This record gives sequence, C-alpha cells and structure tokens, in this order.
Amino acid sequence: MNTPPKHLEDCRTFFADSIDPFILMDQDFQVIWCNRAFLNTFGFAAEAADGADFAGLMGCPDSIFDLTEIMRRLQLGEPVRMRTLLRSATGEPVHVDCGGHALPRSASAGNDPRYMLIVRDISAMSMAMEALEANGNNTYRKLFENAVEGIFRTTPEGRYLDANPALARIYGYSSPQELIQHFSNIASQLYVDESRRDQFQEIMRKHGEVWEFESRIYRKNGEIIWISENSWIVRNSMGDIDCYEGTVTNITRRKETESELELQRARFTKLFENSPQAIVLIDTKGFITDVNRGFEELFGYSHQEVVGKRNREVVVPKELRFEAEQFYQNLSKGLHIQKETIRLHRSGRQIPVSVLGYPIRIGGEITGLYYIYADITERREFQDQLAHQAFHDSLTGLPNRALFMERLGRAVARAKRRENYRFAVFMLDLNRFKVVNDSLGHQAGDKLLIGVSRRIQSCIRSVDSVARLGGDEFAVLLEEYNVLQDVAEIAKRIHEVMKAPFVLGDQKIVTQASIGIVLKTEHYDNAEAILRDADIAMYRAKERGRIHSVRFKVFNKKMHLQATENLQIENDLRIAVYEGQMVLHYQPIVTVHDQALTGFEALVRWNHPRLGIVPPARFIPIAEETGLIIPLGAWVLEESCRQMREWRAELEDTGQLTMSVNISSKQLAQPDLVSFVKGVLERNSLSPQCLKLELTESVFLQDAPRATETLRSLKELGVQIVVDDFGTGYSSLNYLKLMPVDTLKIDRGFISGQDNCQQNLEIVRSIISLARNLGLQVIAEGVENEEQLRNLINQQCDAAQGFMFSKPVDNYKATQLIKKLSR
Ligand code: C2E
Ligand code: CA
Ligand code: CA
Repeated sequence: MNTPPKHLEDCRTFFADSIDPFILMDQDFQVIWCNRAFLNTFGFAAEAADGADFAGLMGCPDSIFDLTEIMRRLQLGEPVRMRTLLRSATGEPVHVDCGGHALPRSASAGNDPRYMLIVRDISAMSMAMEALEANGNNTYRKLFENAVEGIFRTTPEGRYLDANPALARIYGYSSPQELIQHFSNIASQLYVDESRRDQFQEIMRKHGEVWEFESRIYRKNGEIIWISENSWIVRNSMGDIDCYEGTVTNITRRKETESELELQRARFTKLFENSPQAIVLIDTKGFITDVNRGFEELFGYSHQEVVGKRNREVVVPKELRFEAEQFYQNLSKGLHIQKETIRLHRSGRQIPVSVLGYPIRIGGEITGLYYIYADITERREFQDQLAHQAFHDSLTGLPNRALFMERLGRAVARAKRRENYRFAVFMLDLNRFKVVNDSLGHQAGDKLLIGVSRRIQSCIRSVDSVARLGGDEFAVLLEEYNVLQDVAEIAKRIHEVMKAPFVLGDQKIVTQASIGIVLKTEHYDNAEAILRDADIAMYRAKERGRIHSVRFKVFNKKMHLQATENLQIENDLRIAVYEGQMVLHYQPIVTVHDQALTGFEALVRWNHPRLGIVPPARFIPIAEETGLIIPLGAWVLEESCRQMREWRAELEDTGQLTMSVNISSKQLAQPDLVSFVKGVLERNSLSPQCLKLELTESVFLQDAPRATETLRSLKELGVQIVVDDFGTGYSSLNYLKLMPVDTLKIDRGFISGQDNCQQNLEIVRSIISLARNLGLQVIAEGVENEEQLRNLINQQCDAAQGFMFSKPVDNYKATQLIKKLSR
C-alpha cells in the first residue's frame, strides 16, 4: 500500500481501528487505503482491495445507479449520505449506510487520496426490519390502502415516494401510481400558492412535524380545493431525514361553510350596525344582549342602559305585555313574527312600530332571538291623513258625504236589529249661499260655511254627526233619541243659532236656511232613500215663506208623491209651451193715491191637460233648473206684448198702460236677450217705455259682467227695469247706484206678511225713503186690505198691486178691468 500523504496520517490512525468500514480513494475512485473493518466486513484481502476500482470492486446490479450517483456527488464536492447495496468478496449484497466526503486537495497532485467513504453494514438491521415489516405488513398495508385520509410519503425535495388510494382520490388521480408519476415538484405542481411548500419545510425544519397545515391545492383537473396536512419527518438509522410521511384531508366543504359563515357574520354585523331600523338581540331568557344604533335612536336608550335588562321591561307598554309574551312564545317555537304595534320611547312617548322577530338558531338549537323595529309613525300619520281626507271635507273638517252615508247605512242596519233604536236625519241648505259667494267673494263664502258648520255642531249631542255633503248642503244624523221632542229640541236650537248674523270681514250676513227632516226612518231599507227624502223635504221648506231665517219641513208621504210629480212635471213641461198649454194671467198695478190702473204684471199659468191649472211656483223652479225657462220666458214676453198691442188697438186710453214681465236670471244670461226684446217690441209696434222687466235682487248681486251689460243695453233701449221681491236679498245696496234700475218692488212679505208688523212697516218706510233718495219708483205688491193701502198712502208709495185690487185674471177679465178702471 502506498505511503499516505502526511496530512492524512492522523485520519488513518483514527480510522484504522474504527468498527465502521472506511476507505480512501484517489481521483479515479481507485482504492488507496482501507481499514480492517472494511476488509472484514466485505471479506477482501488487503491486496485485492488496494488499487482496485471502487465500482468494479463493490458494485452490484441493483445499486449500480447509486454508486454512479455517489461518485457524481463526490466529484462535485458534495457530501453523500445514502442507503444502498454493496458487493462483498463472495458476491453477496450487503446493506449499507454510506457516507462520503471529498477531501481538500494537497499541493502534490497525482496519487493523492481524494475521497473517503464510511460504509456501515446494516444488513442485520435491515433483516430485522424486513422481518418486522413482513410481520406487520398486512395490517399496515390494509390500513394504508383503505384509509379515508390520504397518506403520503415524500422526499423533502418534493417527490412522492408513496401515496394511498385515498390521496389519489382527493387529488383527483385514478391511482396512486399515476399520482406518484405525475409529481416531480410538489411546491409548484400541488400548491396554488407555491410558497406554501417553503412554509411547510420551515415548520418541518423547526419542529420536525406539521399539524393541520391548511392550503389550497390543485387537483388533477385544475380544480382548487382546500386540504389539511399532518406530517412528520421519518429518519433513517443514522438519524438523517429519510422522508416526510403524513396524512391529507379534504377540508373544502368545511372551508366553504366557514367562509359562508364568516360572510354571513360580516353581513349581519354590517346590517346590525348600520341599519336605520332598531335591532335588539335577546338571549333565551329574554335579556338584551346587544342593541344597535338604530335602537338607541328610536327608543332613546344607550347601549349600556339596556344590555342585561329584559326587553319587555324596557320598550313594551304595560298593556301590551301579553302580546309581547305571545311573540316570545312563538319565537321560542322557532316561528317568526311580524306585527304592527306600539312600543315606548324612553320618555314614555308611544311609537307606532312594525316588529319583525326571528329566532337565532345555531346548530338547530335556538340560542336567542332578535327583533327589528321600524318606526311607522309617518306612515301611520299619512294613512290617517289619507283616510281623513277621503272621508272629510277639507274646508270645514266635517265628515263628507261618503262617511255620512256609511254612518247612515249603519244606523239603518242597527234600527233593523234593535227595536228601540231610533234615528232622524236633517238636511240643511243655505238659501242664498250662491248670492253671498257671488257678491262677497269665495273667501267670504268659505267663512260662512265654516261658521255654519260650527253653529250646527254646537247644537248636536256627541252621539250625533254633522256632515257637509257638498256646496252649502249639510246633513245631521241624530242617533238614539228617545222622544220626538228631542229632535224638535235640536231643530229649535239650530233655528236659534242660525238667526244671529254671521260676521264676514266688515259685512254682517243673515243667512236663511231650509231644513228637511226625515223622522220615520224605520220604514227605510237604505241610506240613499233617507237622504233623498230629506232632500225633498228641504226643497219643500225652501218653497215656503221668505223671511224666516230657518224653515223646517218634515218629510211625509205627500212629499214623496210630489217628488215623483216633479219628475212628471219636468217631462210634461218640455212639450207644454209648444202644445199651447201655457196661458197668461194679468194682475193690475194701480197708483197708490187714487188707485188708477197703470198697467199689468203678466203671470204665467199652466193649463195642464190632466192636473188642471198649475201655479208657477210648481213649475217655474223646475223650468229654471232644466233651462226650459228660456223658451217659456220667450213665449211669455211675446204673448204679453201681443196682448198689449191688442188692447192698444181695441181699447181707448190704453197708451199709458205698461206691461210688467218677469225675467229669470237664466234669461238674462242669454246673449241675444236684447235683440229678442227689441224684435218683440217692433213686431207689436210697442214703444220700449211700456215694457217693464222684473228681475229679482240676486240678479243684481251676482257679479256677472254679461248680465250687467245686458241690463245696460236694455236700459238704453228704453225698457224699464224693476227689482222684484226687494228686501229679501242681502244688505249690500251698492248695486242700486251702479245698476240701471228704475223701480223697486217691495216684497209682499213686508206688506201682507203676518209677523212683526211694526218691524215690516219700518222696513217699508226705509225702502221708500231709500228709493226717494235714489230717484227710483216704488211699487208695493201683496196689498190685500185697506189698512195696508192706508199705510202706503201715508208713506207716499207710488204704485200698488194685490188681491185688494184684483187677483191675476185671464185676458178677458183683464179687458173688463181696463174698461172699468181707466177713465
Ligand atoms: P212674483 O213675480 O212676485 O209675482 C207675484 C205673485 O204674488 C203672484 O203669484 C201673484 O198671484 C201673487 N200675489 C199678487 N197679489 C197678491 C196678494 O195680495 N197677496 C198674495 N198673497 N199674493 C199675491 P204667482 O202668479 O203664483 O207667481 C208666483 C211667482 O212665479 C212670481 O212671483 C214669479 O216669481 C213667478 N212667475 C210667474 N210668472 C212668471 C213668468 O212668466 N216668468 C217668470 N220668470 N216667473 C214667473
Ligand atoms: Ca213679479
Ligand atoms: Ca214679487
């Protein structure tokens, strides 16, 4: 054996007696030196070994690659640790753990030892292991094959050494073999995030094991799943890392649930915190565990003040505790609740809220509940307001027709059920409301309506109701009265309160109201019929008298007949003028001082084929309502003027006689009235001075420019204008100065009316003095007796008309009168 270089002397001495086999090799891997243990272990003679080629000497077919690898590494200067097989002198394979190093180069080149190897014989241990494995193999293998967890063995560098079917399944491979062959680099091929492998290694290095290492990985088909790995280092007999062994579970489902939960929790937290609705969380015992800002704002409590308290004692009104208990019971059963109710503000103020309640379930168990409150005050108010608007009159705030009809309907139904239940209905209408509205303006009209509604309300009891049906119509429902006297009492009270004038700005207005009453309500089956009859009675009340401030009429059967008759009249009236059923009667007008005839008032009569003579009061209002007054009025004007021409032609001293014709406001509104009047006069060769047109006061009060214009034109034509029924209108007399009026005709109520004679005398006196001041003529109508005439003489009234001189008479009798009276 060659003399070893000096610097290796110590090494040889050290290894000469080592129990582990040791060899030194030159750069060509030829054995330079080996120790005794080497010769013994492998059975070589020292001569056989010396200078031999290492691979040729010890290589065996199973490990030829290992030897190549060992030599390659040593050449590269890397240390080697490997378990492999070497051949003994007898050709037997020997299991060895092999460790090698490249030695530092010496100055002298050539035959220097370059590599050293220690090859420990582990055959005995291997055999023991094999025996052991053979023994336990079955159970182990079974476990390995059938485990639900994936089991692997990898090299630290990242190759699979072994994998069980479960792992192949988890990673999406058809077999463990496929899996093992597929991977050459776990870091880049398996992990979605490549750095996971470094982290894995890091932990392995530090702790030798890894627990519940969770990562996202690619399956074979590219799908990404979550896995959890447990792994540990497996070391060889020399304590070096042999491989990593470990298990894999697919935790994708759990991860998804977790992230779903997390998302939900995040969402809930966000909702909870930012919800404008008040949310309270309550535990199973009813104690508040949390409230949000919305809750603090809605109920005025801070978080600290309420947490730990019972929700029921904080926000639930005492009287609703039972309801709250019901909520709680339902929620405890797993139901949810939804309700609109009342909760209390800290101040004690009641808040209308909508409540949503849900149980909180975790793992199928109810662990608490929560309520969501929304303030519905505004919605409630809006709904209330809408309901109010739908059923109330905006001007007076009274119930409207719809609500009144509903109440009336209920009263009808109640009367059917309860024998002693009685009710009555009033319908009230202001007689000249339109005049107030037109002359004083809508604001004054509105004020008057409000005033009237207040006064009516002051007369009724709390069980009764007043409604405004529309326009100037009001209705009263009197419920549960005992005796008729009660109803009469209320009617009387209404009469009383309506008498006082209404102050509208600087005007004082005395209204006149007509009231229709339905008493025998038990005969009715529906509300409409009652209101219809109250309406009929009211119209009848209107027809009577003129000066009383309030007139009543209780509905009776006759009225019903009359109402149906009205319809009949309307129908018949349409043809009456054309069928020649109309006739004119004439009532003389005389001078007051010597009762000389000055003219006639033409008054229309209807000679109805079935009903006989129908008075104008019966059909004029209907004619006015239906517009039939236009052809009728035209006929009256034509016929009266024709009569006047006839008298002029046939009788003497008729040149000064005048003809008074009543003109309704509808006629005045006709644009062609002036030309029509002119035509009539011309056709009958009459001078305009002999025609007097009588118009009621309301015509002048209405601020209708066209009517005023028409009056002016008529006046220009030379026709005279008379204010009929003077004194029954409103206090404003300004129009007398502005309108082209010639004569005032004092209403017969002041002349022949019965009540308050002294007062009437005064009124007549003032009217006459007013007329004098304005330079107008005055006629008194309705003069029935000497006394009345005497008064007129005393007061120097100009003309008079009345039954005392003559009733209205037909044209034949009128002719006689002319002959007799005109001298
Ligand atoms: P008016 O214009 O005030 O007519 C006077 C009414 O008083 C007439 O009733 C007449 O018969 C009645 N009368 C006359 N003297 C007396 C008396 O001494 N005592 C009483 N208590 N009454 C007396 P008539 O004819 O029934 O007419 C009623 C109303 O019908 C008239 O009231 C007038 O407004 C209307 N009218 C009558 N004819 C016509 C017409 O041709 N056209 C229009 N538009 N209306 C008419
Ligand atoms: Ca008249
Ligand atoms: Ca009159």
